[in-house]
This record gives sequence, structure tokens and C-alpha cells, in this order.
Amino acid sequence: MGWESNETMQPPYGPAPAPLAGPELPSFRYPLGETPTKQFDGGTAKEATVVQSPVSDKLAGVYMTLEAGAVRELHWHANAAEWAYMIDGRARVTTIDPENQAEVVDFWAGDVWYFPRGHGHSIQGLDGGCTFVLVFDNGYFSEFGTFSITDWLGHTPHEVLAKNFGLPVADFAKFPKKEVYIAKGPVPPPLPEDPTPGSLNAPALTHRYRLLAQAPEPFPGGEMRIASEIEFPISSTMTGALLTIAPGGMRELHWHPNAAEWQYWLEGTGRMTVFGSGGRARTDEFGPGDVGYVPQGYGHYIENKGKDDLELLVVLNNGTYQSVSITAWMAGTPDLLLATNFGVPEKVFEDMPGDAVIMPEGD
Ligand code: MN
Ligand code: MN
Repeated sequence: MGWESNETMQPPYGPAPAPLAGPELPSFRYPLGETPTKQFDGGTAKEATVVQSPVSDKLAGVYMTLEAGAVRELHWHANAAEWAYMIDGRARVTTIDPENQAEVVDFWAGDVWYFPRGHGHSIQGLDGGCTFVLVFDNGYFSEFGTFSITDWLGHTPHEVLAKNFGLPVADFAKFPKKEVYIAKGPVPPPLPEDPTPGSLNAPALTHRYRLLAQAPEPFPGGEMRIASEIEFPISSTMTGALLTIAPGGMRELHWHPNAAEWQYWLEGTGRMTVFGSGGRARTDEFGPGDVGYVPQGYGHYIENKGKDDLELLVVLNNGTYQSVSITAWMAGTPDLLLATNFGVPEKVFEDMPGDAVIMPEGD
């Protein structure tokens, strides 16, 4: 058991985060990269849940590394689905789904996985090890919602195991008595090309998506790669995106009607402003290793104020991607109405981009 006790865990969700009710908005930045790393024999981990970052009640994350050959053991999560982005290195992932169909597949940098709540999985570092970010669609996620195979079998009488597997009782004498969490072993050989890995008894929906291999969708000042349920059908409760913003560029003013947003800042520096109604707006500065959070429906924009490209992961707790843009809204609103709304001349709105509205006759 690698984690601190979490008395407030209350799956699937706890109460609305109290900090959002105050006269000022709290910080939406959590400096995960600056927090102490938990060392295991074979890997490292650090987490950002609602315990560390009280605003993030709907999503939590873990930054993890595995050495070559080290296995994050067979386990499942009772209280969350798991989404991940492979930052560096290579890993082999095994899964079991509710139809008892298994998948064994390798992940490279730029790949994403998604394990629906309760799907069993393991992760093994291949040559050179691997680094990845895990995101869970429950801010109250903690390892107390994690069910490990050694933990269970270690707390099952050997006579029962013998009966279950049809093997002699003595075969289980050397099994671990408590949770292993990470096991060290040899780097496995490459998966066979033929048959294609996982094609025997393969599940209908693969758990892997090659996000970085996707052609990005450009926007003014940047580009985005996205894996919603449309691109990655198994990912029914989460959408992930890789966002690149050029120096001076901006992810425009927008909000997500159906999801909260959890971010992991990979490269570059920038700032995010969150609008939370009641005259409240909050700007925080972000850099590599920082976690950002935006409550569902809260307005936000991200600016690259640095000299290099800004790259961040954006993960939403909904498989359907929805984003409302202020620009599109105003473009779709008659200029006269905007002039009245803002109390300024109509011509101010004539040159605004994206004139999507079909104007009534005579306008
Ligand atoms: Mn897991
Ligand atoms: Mn957003």
C-alpha cells in the first residue's frame, strides 16, 4: 500500500468543493512536479487527488515511472475509469474486460490508454522503462479503490486457491501474503507479429489509441489532437487532448458544458484564467509538471506567454467532447443585440471573426 490514508474518500463523488463557494476563486494550479516523489522498488509515483488539490473533485491524476521489466501488477479500480498518456519510453499493457477477453499490447510515447471502471490491467516497463500520466474520472480516487491481485490472493486460504485453480495446495505456499504493487522482472520478448498482438481472443474495443500519430486540428495560435469516444470508442467516460500553443498564441475563451477539465502541463510556460461567475476570475502561471483544473462549466482561456511552444494534456470527464466558444457565440448573435448588450456602437462587432449568424432581412 503506497499511499497516505485518505479519510475523506467517498466514491464515486464527495460534496462540491468548498473553496469554490468563497468570495475569491482559489488557485486552479497544483504543482505536482514540485511535490515529493514516492519511491518504490521498480518505479516512482506522485498523485494529485482532491486531498492534495481541493478544487479537483471530479478528476485526479498520477505521474508514474516504471523501470525496464518492472510490472505495475494486475489490478482494477472500483471507483474510477483510468486514462493515460505515455510521455516517454515503452510499456506493455495487459487487460481483461467483462466478456473475459484479454488484450496484450505495447505502448509508445504519444499513445493513450483507457480502461473502463473495473477492467483489470497491468503495465510493464519495456527497454529503457517508461513515464506516463494517469488520469481518473473521480477526484476522490485513491489506492483504497484499487484492487490488486496479490492483495486478494494473499488474503484467500490456500485450500480455496487449490480448489479454484485445480492445483495442489503446496503450489501456493510461496505466493505473496500482501499487495506487491510493483514487481521486478525481466523485460519480456517482443510480441509476435503474426498473429497480430492481441488478435487471439481479442476484445471488440481496443484499449489503445495513438494520439500523437493523429493529424492535429489547427486553431489560430495552435493545434489540438483529440481522443473522444468518436476517435477512441472504448473511451466512453473521458476525452483526452494534446494541446500545442505557439508563443503569443491562445486557446480562446470557452467552456465545457458537460465536463470538468484536468490538465498536465508538459512543455513551455503559460497562464490560465478561470472565470467563476460573481465577478470572480483567477489567473495562475503554469509550467512543466503543473496540474491545472477547471470545474465543469467554468469559463477559461490559456495563453502562451513564453518563447517556446506550450504543450499540455487536457482530460475531460466525459467521452463526448463539448466546448462552447465565446467567439462563436458572439458571431452567432446579431450585432444590434450585442451593441445593446454591451452598450457600445454596433460597428465594434462588424470586424469580429467567425460571422456564423444568418442575419434577418435588411441587416
Ligand atoms: Mn490502474
Ligand atoms: Mn478547456
